[in-house]
Amino acid sequence: MQSARSLINKLKKDYPNFKFCKSNISHWSYTEKTIFYEDNIKHSDWILLHEISHAILNHKNYTRDIELLSKERDAWNFANTNLALKYGIQIDKDFIEDHIDTYRDWLHYKSSCPNCGLNGFEKNKGQYICPACGREWKVNEARNCNIKRTQLNKHH
Ligand SMILES: [Zn+2]
Ligand SMILES: [Zn+2]
Repeated sequence: MQSARSLINKLKKDYPNFKFCKSNISHWSYTEKTIFYEDNIKHSDWILLHEISHAILNHKNYTRDIELLSKERDAWNFANTNLALKYGIQIDKDFIEDHIDTYRDWLHYKSSCPNCGLNGFEKNKGQYICPACGREWKVNEARNCNIKRTQLNKHH
């Protein structure tokens, strides 16, 4: 397995249109054309290939939650079928499935009504409404475990 640092050097050379920036959360920023990456975590090379796949596929930031899961899949597929071979990296299939499962759980958590627990729908970006009890809530953008659901109409 190669280190994230040697991979990052190759990627910088191969994709000069993108910026690379160390961060504590791996993600692709469409508006900044920047791949934020972590280099001190386990399997950072796999995650790096995943994030640059978002970049190559030109994934935008402002996506409805319902589309996020398919973009996650697309980015992993691209990383696995195109980039892995190109950079001599083998991505573990279970790792990908785990990642997608975690992502799915996160989306499910975000969309669950804080009042009755039923599945709400996203009426605006980051704003959900429950079809059963009418409760509305907001979710933040953070793609880690610190998801906050702020209730809009507490006294519904
Ligand atoms: Zn992703
Ligand atoms: Zn509800």
